[in-house]
Amino acid sequence: MENKLIELIKSSIKAKRNSYSPYSKFKVGAAILTKHGKIFAGANIECASYSLTICAERVAAVKAISSGELKFKYIAIATNKKQVAFPCGACLQFLTEFSSNLKVILVKSEKEYKIFDLKDLLPQNFVL
Ligand SMILES: [Zn+2]
Repeated sequence: MENKLIELIKSSIKAKRNSYSPYSKFKVGAAILTKHGKIFAGANIECASYSLTICAERVAAVKAISSGELKFKYIAIATNKKQVAFPCGACLQFLTEFSSNLKVILVKSEKEYKIFDLKDLLPQNFVL
């Protein structure tokens, strides 16, 4: 695997350290590789009012978008659980907005991961 993807996977693992998840204890880190080769990482942020919780995927995406990076190539997602976790439906829809051809890397460890096509995870997205 090319070095940039290894760096991306490491970034997702590192990002979960900054997870704010006192309620679920479910730490998630996500890192996005943009079309221009930049990496933006984020972690999930919970709130006492549970529905205001923001997933790591959208935190990473918002950091990229607000920095002017609107096209993504890969997103790597790591958790503190033994099994990998797929992005939730809200994140799949949000990510589709910016890159329908996105590849989703579910990270178990630096050497153990699975790659999916966003289109396979959300075959029918909402479109206006
Ligand atoms: Zn989500």
